[in-house]
Amino acid sequence: MLFRRRTLEKRMPSYDLAVVGAGILGLAHAYAAAKRGKSVVVIDRDAQANGASVRNFGFVTVTGQGAGDCWTMARRAREVWAETAGRAGIEIVQRGMVLASRFEESEAVIDAFLGTEMGEGCTRLTAEAAQDHIACLRADAARASLYSPHEIRVESRTAIPLLARFLEEQHGVRFLRNTAVTAVESPRIETARGVIEAEAVVVCPGDDFTGLFAERIAAYNVTRCKLQMLRVQPVKPVTLKTAVMSDLGLGRYLGYADLPEAAPLKQRLDTELKAERENGIHLIVTQSADGSLVVGDSHHYAATPDPFASDDVDALMLGEFDRVLDLPGRVVTERWLGTYASAPDRWRFTDKPSDSVRIVIVTAGCGASTAFGIGEETINDLFGSVA
Ligand SMILES: Cc1cc2nc3c(=O)[nH]c(=O)nc-3n(C[C@H](O)[C@H](O)[C@H](O)COP(=O)(O)OP(=O)(O)OC[C@H]3O[C@@H](n4cnc5c(N)ncnc54)[C@H](O)[C@@H]3O)c2cc1C
Repeated sequence: MLFRRRTLEKRMPSYDLAVVGAGILGLAHAYAAAKRGKSVVVIDRDAQANGASVRNFGFVTVTGQGAGDCWTMARRAREVWAETAGRAGIEIVQRGMVLASRFEESEAVIDAFLGTEMGEGCTRLTAEAAQDHIACLRADAARASLYSPHEIRVESRTAIPLLARFLEEQHGVRFLRNTAVTAVESPRIETARGVIEAEAVVVCPGDDFTGLFAERIAAYNVTRCKLQMLRVQPVKPVTLKTAVMSDLGLGRYLGYADLPEAAPLKQRLDTELKAERENGIHLIVTQSADGSLVVGDSHHYAATPDPFASDDVDALMLGEFDRVLDLPGRVVTERWLGTYASAPDRWRFTDKPSDSVRIVIVTAGCGASTAFGIGEETINDLFGSVA
């Protein structure tokens, strides 16, 4: 894919849409445009996706997303994932979610959630019923459980490359890798390796705030969130039919935590799980095709987060894991860090530097769950809605 600057400038390749960033948000925009027959180029500075989009759980979550826009986008994105995964050769490794709760105060939150429109299709389970989904679930961690059928789980580190290949091979999307975009003055896009022309440009830079449109992005008071993640291998084979969460999830995911009924629970969590709450820990456990478990996560905020993974934070996450799942002898086989964009007062923004340029950033930990919905919205805005 190497091309010389002079050659590119002479030919000035032209597209309907150029997308900067080949994470899930960039790919979602490319897909929405390609489905409408637009010619699309995706440009990324890395050789392969290496940002938040391949470091996450691959947990496409509907239930628990903030009420309103986020939940609506997640529902649409989940539909697109479900209809696209098979075509792109992406395996859906798990479906659904069991949120197991052990605190009395959680019951009120689960019941209140079930009474909202977001609770549609979800049910409350006894410990026994929850163990039908998760055999290794501790009964005393599942005094009441919320079951949701809506979630799907993909293996992000393979799903994102497969999605890019699908776009390239079946939708004719062109990918320029190892290519940093240095300026966007639509229709000219300057890259470190030459100039490209496109009728419209969507910039999806993830948490790179100081490159393109730095001043416009800074106006949203963005910062970064650093997360620690683990891969855990059970000693004996075990099947988790769904993803697993715990009371800490009820205190953090806004679809639950914003309910008035969550106040007593959050108070109790702040006292009894003080260190976990201070480190932004909530338990999510998903399972990979090889039986290993992806376990996380923690949340620490800084403009430039340090690159060090704390053993104390891992111990807190594993402590919660062991309180919820009975898997003696489990072994940690992998540890990694991820970062994503964060803003104090919004979960996403779309900025419009001009009629033909959009900057799109998800500023919370839900881009895998919402990107396909956002991509369609932006493409409709740029090229007009389809009837
Ligand atoms: C550990 C972890 C767990 C998470 N868990 C979940 C979860 O369970 N569910 C969920 O929905 N979300 C989750 N998220 C959040 C989700 O992963 C992100 O919201 C999403 O991946 C953001 O996608 P993106 O495409 O915007 O960013 P990225 O994946 O970071 O991609 C941005 C891309 O832009 C490129 N780029 C930037 N600037 C330039 C430039 N000037 N020129 C060329 N290329 C450029 C970068 O190289 C990069 O490839 C998690 C995130 C992390 C880190």
